[in-house]
Amino acid sequence: MSISSSTPASIVTPAPGLEQGSAPAAPLLPGAWLGMLGGGQLGRMFCFAAQAMGYRVAVLDPDGLSPAGSVADRHIRAAFDDQNALTELSRLCAAISTEFENVPAASLEFLARSSFVAPSARCVAIAQDRAIEKAFLVECGVPVAPHVVIASSAALADIDDAPLDAVLPGILKTARLGYDGKGQVRVANANEVRLAHADMGGVPCVLEKRLALAYEVSALVARGADGRSVVYPLAENVHHQGILAETTVPSQRASAALAAQAQSAAQAIAAQMHYVGVLCVEFFVLEDGSLVANEMAPRPHNSGHYTVDACATSQFEQQVRAMTGLPLGDPRQHSPAVMLNVLGDVWFEDGSARTPPWQDVVALPAARLHLYAKEDARPGRKMGHITLTAATAEAAHEAARECQRLLRIVFD
Ligand code: ATP
Ligand code: MG
Repeated sequence: MSISSSTPASIVTPAPGLEQGSAPAAPLLPGAWLGMLGGGQLGRMFCFAAQAMGYRVAVLDPDGLSPAGSVADRHIRAAFDDQNALTELSRLCAAISTEFENVPAASLEFLARSSFVAPSARCVAIAQDRAIEKAFLVECGVPVAPHVVIASSAALADIDDAPLDAVLPGILKTARLGYDGKGQVRVANANEVRLAHADMGGVPCVLEKRLALAYEVSALVARGADGRSVVYPLAENVHHQGILAETTVPSQRASAALAAQAQSAAQAIAAQMHYVGVLCVEFFVLEDGSLVANEMAPRPHNSGHYTVDACATSQFEQQVRAMTGLPLGDPRQHSPAVMLNVLGDVWFEDGSARTPPWQDVVALPAARLHLYAKEDARPGRKMGHITLTAATAEAAHEAARECQRLLRIVFD
């Protein structure tokens, strides 16, 4: 067992360049092939940005109908640990990135033998495991929620109720493979912790104190191999049922001082890891105004989708620039923005299927529609998003409310 204040000795700062292959000595210029592990919507938007600049993209994903595979210049349809497929990808692409953190770290290490991998296997491995991630954030001097690491069923059997009680009521989260609130259970007492942990199959977990949140924000940073970084305005996020529902940028509630604190924490975290690429750090803002880091995403993030429509350089273009060794772009936001996620729920009404009224959504002057071309609309599945931009934050918000009304998106 370890508590948030103790840092395992295994969290060491990686040496730059060692585990990600060497950064290209000269920038990889348009015309080159770039590799992407993962064929989801983040990979799709990465393809759009890379292709707009004249790069070609090869996507590795097992799904024949993946959102990114269907727009890539080449789709290598194979498992993420398929050595032949990884070899093909690294022969073709001098620089390779990933769009989701659950890609096997061993695959990234394998690719790094012959290609530049950004972010590195080491950075992805930190973000893959909530226990390691929390210890790393603490090492960076960034506060995290009080928590207890539960390594196994045997370890839990050895823990008394008192240390569990200290972080209850809480949320039991699997250390690995959670996303969109999956792999999380709310627990009120030690007995519930033990039952929930058994229900989760006894896998390594983090029991985290449930905090009274005033609101949530995220800081998005892009960092190049030369150590330069740029940071976007602070985003304010509303979650519904554990899934990001809406992002407003710039945050309307955060003071300039709080925004600067979150932004510089994200930049410090990226620097500490010698991170190359786009990194997002999610924070809770507590009622007393203090910041607590929740987790980080070693990739472009859902709360940064607005950058495509509202910033000089999108988060996806920054990923291209960082991995190719081009200078980072201007992150300046040119319009206030609200991003509304479109989940599969909007394809259903009173239990029957319907086609959402896209023609009414795109009729709003503020609205930019992004759909990921996923075949199956399922409740809770991210199918697309709409970015609302306007001259003022109020007008962007009003347009978002109108979109919600048209699509019947309800947040409790
Ligand atoms: P995603 O990958 O979509 O960010 P996730 O599955 O990794 O989600 P978390 O970010 O850990 O999950 O949690 C999802 C949401 O649940 C948070 O954004 C927050 O709204 C709520 N939440 C998580 N942990 C806590 C906590 N300790 N106290 C209060 N609320 C919490
Ligand atoms: Mg999260």
